[in-house]
Amino acid sequence: MSRPVAGRDVDHDVLIIGAGMSGMYQLHRLRALGLDVQVVEAGTGVGGTWYWNRYPGARFDSESYSYGYSWSPELLDDWDWSEHFAAQPETLSYLNHVADRFDLRSDIRFETRVQRCTFDENANCWIVEAEDGYRASCWLLITALGPLSAPAMPAIEGIDDFEGEWHHTGLWPHEPVPMEGRRVGIIGTGASGVQTIQEVAKTAGSLTVFQRNPNWCAPLNNSPIAPDEMEAIRARYDEIFATCRTTHGQFLHGRDPRSAFDVSDEERLRTFEELYASPGFGIWIGSFRDVLVDAEANALMSEFVASKIRDRVDDPAVADRLVPTNHGFGTRRVPMETGYYEVYNQDNVELIDLRDSPIERITPTGVQTTAGHHELDLLIYATGFDAVTGSFDRIEIRGSGGRLLKDKWDQDLQTFLGVAASGFPNLLTLVGPQNSSTFCNIPRCIEDNVDWMTELIEHMLAEGHERVETTAEAETWWADLAAEAGSMLLMDKVVSWLTGFNHNVGRNKRRHVSWAGGSPAYREHCATVADNGYDGFLFDQA
Ligand code: FAD
Ligand code: NAP
Repeated sequence: MSRPVAGRDVDHDVLIIGAGMSGMYQLHRLRALGLDVQVVEAGTGVGGTWYWNRYPGARFDSESYSYGYSWSPELLDDWDWSEHFAAQPETLSYLNHVADRFDLRSDIRFETRVQRCTFDENANCWIVEAEDGYRASCWLLITALGPLSAPAMPAIEGIDDFEGEWHHTGLWPHEPVPMEGRRVGIIGTGASGVQTIQEVAKTAGSLTVFQRNPNWCAPLNNSPIAPDEMEAIRARYDEIFATCRTTHGQFLHGRDPRSAFDVSDEERLRTFEELYASPGFGIWIGSFRDVLVDAEANALMSEFVASKIRDRVDDPAVADRLVPTNHGFGTRRVPMETGYYEVYNQDNVELIDLRDSPIERITPTGVQTTAGHHELDLLIYATGFDAVTGSFDRIEIRGSGGRLLKDKWDQDLQTFLGVAASGFPNLLTLVGPQNSSTFCNIPRCIEDNVDWMTELIEHMLAEGHERVETTAEAETWWADLAAEAGSMLLMDKVVSWLTGFNHNVGRNKRRHVSWAGGSPAYREHCATVADNGYDGFLFDQA
């Protein structure tokens, strides 16, 4: 039994669901306040995304040193990154190192998948229940469930019939999956699919790529970090994190202030070439200021990247299938690649365009499209996630009056700052819907989120508040603002998880799941709310 909060007995002051980057940092901050904090985590270890996504080729698209935690000088001192964009095993090792260094595991209960959270109106506390029978009460419930942690299988007939081996990229096994000499099929060509394809193609006997819509991919331009370079990076950590704070999405890449039309054709081409040759997301978010908001500027960029794809793929018919035609460059998340397009020049790789020949069904031995049957030993689903709200929906979260959070958000997705939902007192959501984090170099935004949440909790402790809840007015204001910010972007009209779609799980209409107004603006809104005595929240009012 923890120490009573405001005179009541609960098992824990705070219970956090999820031990990824968000949950780990929130645990660290709240323990320092002297609170009794329990984290529950479905996996057997820490790391979240980096624990689950062990597929071949998984790695950062954020610069490694801009992704790691910034809050401990000792941690920055004792961790060396080996590559500018580290691979998944290294990131998972890093997060395990953090857990060891700050003794986080002692407050994390692993293999505990939460299935129900119920608010007790009379006691102002939450009752949390897990699949294994675990049950605990807490004063505050904090979700750190992850925006991309609910893997979605495709809605394809016969999916249970396949008798070969199959895996979803987001639920990859811990043991190595042999590829050598095997007939491998993969469905999906988003960021996970692209990383997997370029790696598996190296060793698979044959690789059949089932592509529905191609994405605009661009070179990652990764490279190793030598020890002296790591020392130089370490010496610049303050500057690196300060730079991140100034950019829209807290990446190291700021937008080019020029319009694509301010410059001559030669200068524009030179800029595009430089971006194509530079590491990381610069090409996506560091281009001319109008590329992601103006259709004509975007068309110039798209044309440039299309020409690169055509240069890199030998067969013009295959190149045609790899060039997106239903959306412009950067209006979906840009998968970063290393030799991805060249894979289609290999004899062991075949690209199936599902727009010409859709999948009819999965069979016991492979995939049947309208054009023929593909015999497979191993089938990989790189079909993405029920993003942002999916992991909330998979828990029965009942607030005041027994109302289900899923029903509330299905009806109208509204939150206040992405951290709270009206009707759900004492529930705080890290990286929740309409939070800046989904449009971000996520750990940078996680730190903002956790720090702000910690201050809110400190405020409650100082004032002796037992209950916090946002208002319907505050969340409508924020949801409208999020919709307005989103509508400025060309991306807003394109089907992708960033605009709330996933047909596999029945998400067939546009939802503003993210805050697209930029991290600096988000931080400012959060600061104003706090400075005004947490305007938009009610304390101790049932
Ligand atoms: P997560 O890491 O997803 O952790 C959530 C945790 O909650 C998980 O461990 C999960 O098991 C647990 N959980 C969920 N539901 C329950 C439940 N019901 N009961 C108990 N536990 C539960 N972002 C970037 O900024 N840069 C990148 O380069 C980048 N690369 C990525 C690569 C991949 C393959 C993917 C999928 C995402 C990537 N992301 C990247 C986004 C990434 O999700 C975030 O960067 C970050 O890891 C999110 O941390 P989190 O703690 O909020 O969520
Ligand atoms: P995703 O971007 O949603 O891509 C899913 C893919 O599966 C798409 O190609 C989609 O085709 C296809 N698909 C889904 N259902 C299908 C069906 N029924 N039939 C045929 N094809 C189907 O998912 P993801 O690749 O896992 O990436 C999700 C997000 O995770 C990324 O956007 C990124 O934020 C993050 N991520 C980051 C990194 C990194 O930073 N290194 C790596 C991986 C993932 P359509 O396009 O036609 O729908």
